[in-house]
Amino acid sequence: AFVPRTADGTDASPGAPSARLSPALKQATPIVVDHASGTWITGTDGRRYLDFTTGIGVTSTGHCHPRVVAAAREQVGKIIHAQYTTVMHTPLLELTEKLGTVLPTGLDSVFYANSGSEAVEASIRLARMATGRPNIIAFHGGFHGRTVAAATLTTAGTKFRSGFAPMMGGVHIAPFPYAFRYGWDLDTAVTFALRELDYLLQTVSAVADTAAFIIEPVLGDGGYLPTPPAFLDGLRERADRHGIVLIVDEVQAGVGRTGKFWGHQFSDSTPDVLITAKGLASGFPISAIAASTALMSTALPGSQGGTYGGNAVAAAAAVATLDVVEDEGLVENARLRGEQLLGGLRAIAARHDQIGDARGLGLMAAFEFVDDAGDADPGAALALQKAALDRDLLLLTCGALGNVVRIIPPLVVTRDEVELGLERIADACDAALGVRS
Ligand code: PMP
Repeated sequence: AFVPRTADGTDASPGAPSARLSPALKQATPIVVDHASGTWITGTDGRRYLDFTTGIGVTSTGHCHPRVVAAAREQVGKIIHAQYTTVMHTPLLELTEKLGTVLPTGLDSVFYANSGSEAVEASIRLARMATGRPNIIAFHGGFHGRTVAAATLTTAGTKFRSGFAPMMGGVHIAPFPYAFRYGWDLDTAVTFALRELDYLLQTVSAVADTAAFIIEPVLGDGGYLPTPPAFLDGLRERADRHGIVLIVDEVQAGVGRTGKFWGHQFSDSTPDVLITAKGLASGFPISAIAASTALMSTALPGSQGGTYGGNAVAAAAAVATLDVVEDEGLVENARLRGEQLLGGLRAIAARHDQIGDARGLGLMAAFEFVDDAGDADPGAALALQKAALDRDLLLLTCGALGNVVRIIPPLVVTRDEVELGLERIADACDAALGVRS
């Protein structure tokens, strides 16, 4: 078996990651995985963990779904890689056809990259080429990736952007309707954020200079905050009025996670550009950028693409993933198990003053922690994460202020697994937060 070693070559404690890994990384747990299946991860120390992190929604069909494994295995023996702009391969053609059946009407042209960040960058290039305008407006608390351009659009925490300025030019950040933070109802928050956006378009980023809005359907790393449908409708209306491209970043919320296939579908508004990654191939790196053929045609041929984008094994895994999502009814499962999960989380929240908000859309659920004064309490979020780990349950924190715990089971999670997870969360909350007297 693999034995993790510290920098001086001695054995690390069982399950501890190597001390040679850069401290620039933040290791949420000391677990070293040996193997995983469905909702379960088994460490090299033999411990079994209930995985409610799923690589932040990546292992959508669960760990090592047999059909995804079989598709990837078969593809490895046929062709691993051909740059698809040189030689096309069948898995990518199949994936393109399959995506055509799930993408919103009108988004009929697609290309591929490897990661969410690359897809974000590609969408920015596309919007700038399509409009001939420089500026991009993103929303406060958004997370769009770690490349410098994507990080410029990211305001989900200082660690994603501090210290490596200068950032990309032409980016402005507008308020997000974060009703809980303001202590407002949703309608008031939406009205405020849209008025602020109009003000920004009149004073800072003139319409004639604004190429795109980019928004997540649910703020992911920024705190698992669903974008209110009325806000998305407001963006759509302004995009239409001003000739601005509306980019929806479905990297974390897409492919069934919210209980709808795409997270933006809680609103009737359709984006001009949709980007997807994470859950698309159950763990293989691939992202897709979709837009209308007319919009895509404004791009210079050769301005998009890259060495590994649309890799054949990843594409085969993506086709299998989309087949599994359809055949096993996983969008509906996410909706039903999400309701079960949120019901249980709300009951737990009622027992602890520190849980200011329990929220969720499908299998994107979260607790937001506050102190007595109503301010963000990141310590409580970390304490819950640790208490859960002690109970063999994996959870992740998020939020621009680090005071949110996100709960992200795979789309295949069963009723019993949700129940077990809720029991462990309840127990961990009692241990980490105390029980109200
Ligand atoms: N957009 C969103 C909404 C994301 O959640 C992420 C990853 N957390 C990214 C973009 C960046 O994706 P990647 O890490 O694959 O570059």
